Amino acid sequence: MSVWDKEVDILVVGSGGGGLLSALVAANNKAEVLIVEKEKLWGGTSATSGAGIWIPNSDNAKAEGFEDNSEEAFQYVRALSADNVPDENIRAYVENGADMLRWMQANAPVQYIAFPYPDYHAENPGGSPTGYRTHLPLPLGKKYTDPSIRTLRHPSAAASLFGYINWDIGEAYTFLFRPKFWWMTLAKMLANYWLDWPFRFTSDKDRRLTQGNALVGGLRLALNEKNVPLWLQSPMQELIETKGKVEGAVINHQGRNIRVKARKGVILAAGGFDKNQKMREENAPLYRNAIYSGGTSGNTGDSIVAGKAIGAGTMNMQSTWAAPVWYVPGEVGGRLCTMERALPGGIMVNQKGERYLNEA
Ligand SMILES: Cc1cc2nc3c(=O)[nH]c(=O)nc-3n(C[C@H](O)[C@H](O)[C@H](O)COP(=O)(O)OP(=O)(O)OC[C@H]3O[C@@H](n4cnc5c(N)ncnc54)[C@H](O)[C@@H]3O)c2cc1C
Repeated sequence: MSVWDKEVDILVVGSGGGGLLSALVAANNKAEVLIVEKEKLWGGTSATSGAGIWIPNSDNAKAEGFEDNSEEAFQYVRALSADNVPDENIRAYVENGADMLRWMQANAPVQYIAFPYPDYHAENPGGSPTGYRTHLPLPLGKKYTDPSIRTLRHPSAAASLFGYINWDIGEAYTFLFRPKFWWMTLAKMLANYWLDWPFRFTSDKDRRLTQGNALVGGLRLALNEKNVPLWLQSPMQELIETKGKVEGAVINHQGRNIRVKARKGVILAAGGFDKNQKMREENAPLYRNAIYSGGTSGNTGDSIVAGKAIGAGTMNMQSTWAAPVWYVPGEVGGRLCTMERALPGGIMVNQKGERYLNEA
């Protein structure tokens, strides 16, 4: 029996960077697309992130005068990857990343610059000590009037002024090191925020988007131009599969479960599982107690659970991108602790005033 409540070409589960960019590619290829998001805010962990992307051999790097090649980048990633990651996956990444970035910049109001930020293991073969593989998003100015930005997830409290005024990396540097006239940057940011009348009386959202907000915000504006709907508070519950083929998914929308047929495919982009205690214990015991992870509250591993339920395989579930976080009582996630660790001469103490880690 196949009774469908709705039909589309492509169903995208999750509204972070992965889901929104996939949706935009599909919509540009004339597919009818629906995006579903579990939470009442969209943007996922991507919205709260720095949105720095590591891509070798980009046009943006060339524009900065940096010559790169994907073979060296392949060597670099190969040596740092688990043995079971196939060569072709790494090649696909290092050879197509630059095309992806070019495409995104041409089809959405998202602009990046290549940054002189050295590779983490620049000393390894193929590593880049000069950088220019890390790309950072430029701020998205407040010229648009699109109301969907009001429900975009705020940036991380640790990566914004007072938790709601967006800053870019240069402004963060100014507040951290307070060079001469640093207060002018502060005054400009406050004026920019408070004098934004169309938004100021109706939302606490800063319309000038930076970092992860600039990435997902720009993608959403491009999707809205193409009238691609994004349903909030509409979790995917399970995949619908017949004879080994995924045909659609059950979505809880406006309080009832509906069956959505996806004629061409379902894209699972529902983030990680750091907010799922059971999955952390089973897959990443080192992070058993990482209940204050910096990931979004929606990160409960739903797409992995749904995939496994119809027989999909998983790999490298124990691999994580991890860093120390602070937990501030009352906040959903931990604050990524990066800048504080970089301050010279600082030590970290616990509630008893005892030093408990090597800050480096
Ligand atoms: C503070 C911080 C800074 C970071 N900075 C960087 C950086 O500079 N560079 C970098 O490469 N990485 C960075 N990361 C990591 C990066 O942000 C994430 O790996 C990335 O954003 C994941 O993107 P995604 O699209 O896969 O998932 P997400 O952006 O998390 O989106 C997934 C979405 O799916 C939704 N969802 C979950 N379950 C369901 C369901 N059942 N139905 C519908 N929707 C569902 C979630 O609510 C969420 O909105 C950072 C992470 C943090 C926490």
